[in-house]
Amino acid sequence: MLLHLHPQSTEEDIRETLSWLAAHNNEPVYLPGAGSGRIVLLAPNPDCREQFGLLPGVCKATPLFSPYKLAGRESCPDDTIITVGRIQIGGGEPVVMAGPCAVESREQTRLAAQMAKEAGAQILRGGAYKPRTSPYTFQGLGRAGLEILAEVGRELGLPTITEVITPEDVPEVAQYVDVLQIGARNMQNFALLSAAGESGKPVMLKRGLAATIEEWLLAAEYILRTGNRQVILCERGIRTFEPATRNTLDLSAVALARALTHLPVVVDPSHGTGRPELIIPMARAAIAAGAHGVMVEIHPDPCSAKCDGSQALNLTELKTLVYEVNATGKLMASLATERMEKR
Ligand code: PEP
Ligand code: MN
Repeated sequence: MLLHLHPQSTEEDIRETLSWLAAHNNEPVYLPGAGSGRIVLLAPNPDCREQFGLLPGVCKATPLFSPYKLAGRESCPDDTIITVGRIQIGGGEPVVMAGPCAVESREQTRLAAQMAKEAGAQILRGGAYKPRTSPYTFQGLGRAGLEILAEVGRELGLPTITEVITPEDVPEVAQYVDVLQIGARNMQNFALLSAAGESGKPVMLKRGLAATIEEWLLAAEYILRTGNRQVILCERGIRTFEPATRNTLDLSAVALARALTHLPVVVDPSHGTGRPELIIPMARAAIAAGAHGVMVEIHPDPCSAKCDGSQALNLTELKTLVYEVNATGKLMASLATERMEKR
């Protein structure tokens, strides 16, 4: 059930209505937006049905058909914009997140961050807890890695993002970084999704290796229903029969997710292709498909990387990527303006 609020409804009206709905077990969630926003009832109580349209500030009550009660455009038509430091994700300009697959040392992370900064990337990535296929490969530096990432990010003025792999680690990781990343392998780790949501930090949710778009968006609901509205979706390629690329980057998922949800959508062409020569073209294509940004892996010395060195970009490549992502963003914005003018 969706309660549409009068544009003139007061804060007092909304507070009163929310507390009545909660007291009558309707699980209300307030979504600010155009006008005075809307209230979604996650569990509408049938005994209250007659009252919904009469509550203070409410102009009408309509059924909510979308399975994505909080992520769907039905409950929130306007794009969500997430602010990380001075950066906005989901708004006008595309965002580039770059950094090493894993934080390996202070020196390696600082050099990678300098590359990111010089090229014009806005957010520094780096894994401290690595979900590796083999238990015998480098698993990340853990807390020491978080400390390095946070310190280097602060030094260079770059907000940071890192993956968290267990619910127990969430409070610690949230202390160190600006954005929590849920990796593809954990997309349906529901306890982790709830814990990440409860941290109150922005959460970037990667699509699972074999997840449908519906499963991905329903996973986002687990984060949103904690009251945390700062969810970024990340398409990172899915498993198909094609072995020529590491994964099959599903850019149709980007256009579809943009239509279905108000949440920002970004693309990881590094894991999506696993091939450096494909990362720049796929980054351009991602922006053309409607993505709000890209995440890519870089390394100051890819041959010595402990993890994913073969897909790491160098400084020259990263500079080209940032330039072309921004240029594609501008082209998309001018096409959108032209489309509006023709209406
Ligand atoms: C990563 O970004 O470091 C990572 C492990 O990605 P994914 O979860 O998409 O495999
Ligand atoms: Mn990687």
